[in-house]
Amino acid sequence: MQTQPKASHFIDGRYVEDTAGAPIEVIYPATGEVIATVHAATPAITEQAIVAATRAQGAWAALTGTERGRILRRASDILRERNHDLSVLETYDTGKPYQETSVADATSGADALEFFGGMAATLTGEHIQLGEDWVYTRREPLGLCVGIGAWNYPTQIACWKGAPALACGNAMIFKPSETTPLCALKVAEILHEAGLPAGIYNVVQGRGDVGASLVTDPRVDKVSLTGSVPTGRKVYAAAAAGIKHVTMELGGKSPMIVFDDADIESAISGAIMGNFYSSGQVCSNGTRVFVHRAIKEAFLTRLAERLEGAVIGDPMDPATSFGPMVSENQMNIALSYIEKGKAEGARLVYGGAKLDREGFFMQPTVFADVTDDMVIAREEIFGPVMAVLDFDDEDDVLARANDTEFGLAAGVFTRDLARAHRIAAGFEAGTCYINTYNDAPVEAPFGGSKNSGVGRENSKAAIEHYTQLKSVYVRMGTLEAPF
Ligand code: NAD
Repeated sequence: MQTQPKASHFIDGRYVEDTAGAPIEVIYPATGEVIATVHAATPAITEQAIVAATRAQGAWAALTGTERGRILRRASDILRERNHDLSVLETYDTGKPYQETSVADATSGADALEFFGGMAATLTGEHIQLGEDWVYTRREPLGLCVGIGAWNYPTQIACWKGAPALACGNAMIFKPSETTPLCALKVAEILHEAGLPAGIYNVVQGRGDVGASLVTDPRVDKVSLTGSVPTGRKVYAAAAAGIKHVTMELGGKSPMIVFDDADIESAISGAIMGNFYSSGQVCSNGTRVFVHRAIKEAFLTRLAERLEGAVIGDPMDPATSFGPMVSENQMNIALSYIEKGKAEGARLVYGGAKLDREGFFMQPTVFADVTDDMVIAREEIFGPVMAVLDFDDEDDVLARANDTEFGLAAGVFTRDLARAHRIAAGFEAGTCYINTYNDAPVEAPFGGSKNSGVGRENSKAAIEHYTQLKSVYVRMGTLEAPF
């Protein structure tokens, strides 16, 4: 497959290059080979994108929702038709196994385009009768939205931000992560093939400085970031200076509680999906697994048996179920946390090592006897490192589960219906699961509370974050004044 894109950026409906920008090498995580080079946007490139987007946005917003939606739904169909090639590219960009990318990336992006394409025609204001007078509201686009992506789901993030923004009549400039710059360009290409007017969805490459230059530009009305909490703080503050709208999809250290009445096989499936899918590089992962003391050893024994079934290797092989880390840096971060876990006295139950082969492969890793104060129980690792903690009492475990700065996700496994809903109500997290983990259908709101973010992606809720309401007061009679 040709992994080198035609040019680094996609602006105003076409590929654009400016080799004066700093080179960014794209590395295939399974081998460490350079598979493409793009150039970071220069100020001239970001200017070109902002000018194109602001110029095009008004006419796009003036289309009917049905017309906008038709283009998004056509793009959704093209994504599905090209799922194989897009999945291979996603695997090159991220190292995630094709077994995952073929069902979770372009398909998830297509779902977002289809869902918001369908919603575009339903967006309305309301009528508020005030006696004889009345008010109507207009749901209007924000204008120019900037999307900034993380590297773990490059196609999905490009679509989860782009689809609602465009459905609502906004223009978007999307800056992918510098680690995975390839997939968003394909999304832009496909949107234009589907009939999107030039300038409405643009992709510019670059590191944090390029993102920061977009966030601070006065012509930008909204910023939607997917990234870490420290980056979120910076971007939120910069956006605040310009009183811009924000969506912040940030990190987590989410709890998963397994009661002694749980279906153990399902709970282990949840723990595997919530810790080792995408080699643990998922924001909502349930990395603090609280297991009731009565079933802890049985849980750990069976978990270790199930982990023997992981097929680690060439991510392009459809049989592979566990791939490399996205980069050497991310692998080293995760390995350093494993050393911290050992030094803190946690019991290494499974894995713990880098694999002796090319690429950035490490083992799925499980620590038991983890306590709440350990660094591996407090900080987001963003790698395949599961911390198993013990508990005896429901109230106590809920308080411990909530004792974190983060609030992205949380899960509970139990057969007790009332307890499941009691725990879900008590979780301080935006996205909760009962007897499952990490499902993220486009129909459901997704996002975090506490330091894990503000705003919601997906679902009808996302519309609130890509539009603003205008109230129009209509007086039917004459207007009086005191003088
Ligand atoms: P990161 O915070 O390092 O970078 C995210 C993006 O922000 C990148 O595109 C980066 O170039 C850009 N950036 C960095 N500094 C910036 C600045 N000052 N101004 C503007 N943009 C800037 O995150 P990452 O390492 O790419 O991704 C991993 C993190 O993302 C984890 O913390 C993970 O939990 C989080 N994440 C959250 C979600 C979610 O939906 N909540 C989804 C995926 C990943």
